[in-house]
Amino acid sequence: MSFPTKRKIVIAIDGFSSCGKSTFAKEIAARIGYVFIDTGAMYRAVTLYGIEHGAIHDGTVDAAQLETLLLRIQISFSFNEQRGASDIYLNGVNVEERIRRIDVSEYVSRVSQIAAVRNRLVHMQQEMGKQKGIVMDGRDIGTVVFPDAELKIFMTADPHIRAERRYQELLGKGEKVSLEEIERNIRERDHADQTRAISPLVQAPDAVVLDNSHMTVAQQMDWVMERIDKLTETSC
Ligand code: C5P
Repeated sequence: MSFPTKRKIVIAIDGFSSCGKSTFAKEIAARIGYVFIDTGAMYRAVTLYGIEHGAIHDGTVDAAQLETLLLRIQISFSFNEQRGASDIYLNGVNVEERIRRIDVSEYVSRVSQIAAVRNRLVHMQQEMGKQKGIVMDGRDIGTVVFPDAELKIFMTADPHIRAERRYQELLGKGEKVSLEEIERNIRERDHADQTRAISPLVQAPDAVVLDNSHMTVAQQMDWVMERIDKLTETSC
């Protein structure tokens, strides 16, 4: 006798900065037992390495130097029980906290425009999703990394509401930042992500839009679980 098994799928979540993509993706992964990968964290880790090794300073990003440094960067994820999600490791060191700081946020959009960085990280992401059963969030997941993903979600929310959320999150961590500075950073990153030459942030034609400006996490979960249930309907 064979038991019905759920079909494993790839869930691609793209959208603007600070829309709650990672929180949402993490929750989905926990609910259905999938692996969750935050690809923004990977671009942030490369940026951090660049800052710490002299390729990024005083408002400049040396793309050639960063390309050379890429060869020395190893990125991995390890599940953190407390957080209920995987922490990112840069050359074996947990940098989950460090990569969220504002200095990294200031440079990450420029680093993510470098072709060599994108090629390396996209390849790593495709490898991670080979077995399916994965929820990945980023900017180009449904368009470039997994164009055949079974479920593509494009997330958006009002920029002011996003800044307010990010502000509260950083305050909670004891960071001294101004709401204006965060909103400016969010708007700049939106613009940079949408207008860059390689893999700009665009909605895949087959993606479903989720504007969560006025939605709770529970409402977003109901919205997505209905779709996932349909797509993973049991087979024998
Ligand atoms: O998601 P998060 O805001 O942490 O991402 C940081 C930055 O990394 C984004 O502003 C974007 O420039 C870049 N990014 C990207 N492609 C991805 C994920 C993130 O270019 N798949």
